[in-house]
Amino acid sequence: MNYDVVVVGAGPVGSTAARYAAKHGAKVLLVEEHSSIGSPVGCTGLLSTRAVAECDLRPSDEFVFNSVRGAFVHAPDGQSLPIDAKQAKAYVVSRKSFDRTLATLAVEAGVELSLRTKAVGLEKTGLEKAGLKAETETGRKESTKEGRKKDPFVKLKVLRNGKPETINAGVVIGADGVKSRIARYAGLGMPERVLPGVQVEAPYASEDSDFVELFPGSQAPGFFAWTVPLNERISRIGLAVEPKLLGQGETPVSCLQKFLDSNPHVKARYGGGMLDFVVGGIPIGPPEKTCTDGVLVVGDAAGQAKPTSGGGVYPGALAAKIAGRIAAEAALEGNTGSGRLSEYDRLRRKALGKELDIGMKVHDHIGKLEDRQLNELIASLNTPSILETITEYGDMDHPSVVLKKLVLSGNSLRLMKAFGTFVRTCF
Ligand SMILES: Cc1cc2nc3c(=O)[nH]c(=O)nc-3n(C[C@H](O)[C@H](O)[C@H](O)COP(=O)(O)OP(=O)(O)OC[C@H]3O[C@@H](n4cnc5c(N)ncnc54)[C@H](O)[C@@H]3O)c2cc1C
Repeated sequence: MNYDVVVVGAGPVGSTAARYAAKHGAKVLLVEEHSSIGSPVGCTGLLSTRAVAECDLRPSDEFVFNSVRGAFVHAPDGQSLPIDAKQAKAYVVSRKSFDRTLATLAVEAGVELSLRTKAVGLEKTGLEKAGLKAETETGRKESTKEGRKKDPFVKLKVLRNGKPETINAGVVIGADGVKSRIARYAGLGMPERVLPGVQVEAPYASEDSDFVELFPGSQAPGFFAWTVPLNERISRIGLAVEPKLLGQGETPVSCLQKFLDSNPHVKARYGGGMLDFVVGGIPIGPPEKTCTDGVLVVGDAAGQAKPTSGGGVYPGALAAKIAGRIAAEAALEGNTGSGRLSEYDRLRRKALGKELDIGMKVHDHIGKLEDRQLNELIASLNTPSILETITEYGDMDHPSVVLKKLVLSGNSLRLMKAFGTFVRTCF
C-alpha cells in the first residue's frame, strides 16, 4: 500500500491534518487504533467559538450541548470574580460527536479511514536518495507530475485488526496524542511536561449554566479545578495538577474527591455520584523540533496544548492545517527530508510559539502562588474598570492580549503590585 501521506490518530487534530493533506492533492490514509472515532474521551469539551471555526465547523446541534459566555473565578477564600463577555465565547461539546464530524469531513475530502489500525513501528528508507534524485534530475515541479517516486520513503508498521502490515508513506503525520509512539519512533523530543487531569460528569445545580466556574489554588496544585455546565442540572467537574506540586500521598483523584466533598460552593451544588469518569494527560511545552525526515508530529503528540487552560483543540487544529498542507506538498514534490518539512516547524512556531511561551510563563507563575497570594490577585482584579478590560480583551486562545492590556492600562496599583512585575517579564 502506498500513500503520499499517512496520518496516525483520528482525533480532532489527525482528522484535520488528513483533510488538509487531501485538500492539497495528496492520497491520504488516516489510521485509528480504536474501533470507534471519539472514544474513549479524555476532554472537558469546552471549545472557544474560534476553535470551532478553526476546524471549519459551524456550531451545530450535532455536537454542541451548551454555549457559555463567561466564567466565575472562585478564589480559595470563596470570593468570586464574575467575567461576563455578554455573548457566546465557547461551546460545551460532545467530543465523541465533534471528533466524528471532523472524521466525516476528512472522508468527504477523499481521505481513506482505517479503524482498528494501530501504528506499532516506523522505518525510514531511501529518504535522502529519493529527495536528491527528484531535485537534481527533474526539478521539483516536474517530479511532482512525472517523477512520483515508486520507492517508499517511510514504512509504517501497523496491526490492522490485529494482523501485521506495512504501509508505505511519503510523509507520516503523528497525531497520536499525548503518548505519541510516532514521536518516539522518529526520535523526536517529547513535550516538556504532562499535567494529569481527572473529571466526572455529574448532577450539579449550576448557579448559571451560561458560565463555567474556575477554582485556582491548592485544591488543584499548580493548575485549577473547574465546573463546565452541559445544562443547569449536569456539569463536567474536574481538575488538573502539576505533579511536582502534589503533597505527600496526594493524587489527582484524591484532589478531585476532596474538591467535591469539601469545597463549600461545589459541595452545595454537587448531587453526588457520576455519569462519566475521565482521566487523561495535558501535554504542555512543545519540543524544539517537531519534524524529521519523512515524519512530523502535531497536536498533543507535539505538546501543543495551551499551558494556561489545557485546551488543545484550537492550537492543534491550527497546527494540523499547516502540517497537512506541508506534508502533502512535500510528498507530491518528492522532497520529504527534514529540510523541506522544517517549513512546518517554522510556520507552527510563527502561529503558536509566542502564545505558548507566554502561556508557559503564566502557568508557572500562577501555579506557584500560595492561596493567600491568589486571594490578593483575584481581589485586585475585582474593580469595574479592570473587569471591563477583561470583558473587552479576554480571549481564552490568546490570553497574552488581556495581560498586556491590564499592565499597560496601569489602572490598579493593587494589581500592579500583585502581578505587574511578572507580566512585564513576559513581553
Ligand atoms: C481532563 C482533560 C480535559 C481537557 N479539556 C479540554 C477542553 O475543554 N478543551 C480543549 O480544547 N482541550 C481539552 N483537553 C485537551 C484535548 O483533549 C487535547 O488537546 C485534544 O484531544 C488533542 O487532540 P489530538 O487529536 O492531538 O489527540 P487525541 O484527541 O488524543 O487523539 C489521538 C488519537 O490517536 C489515536 N492513537 C493513539 N495512538 C495510536 C496508534 N499507535 N495508532 C493509531 N492510533 C493511535 C487515539 O486513539 C486517538 O484517537 C483536555 C484534556 C484533558 C486530559
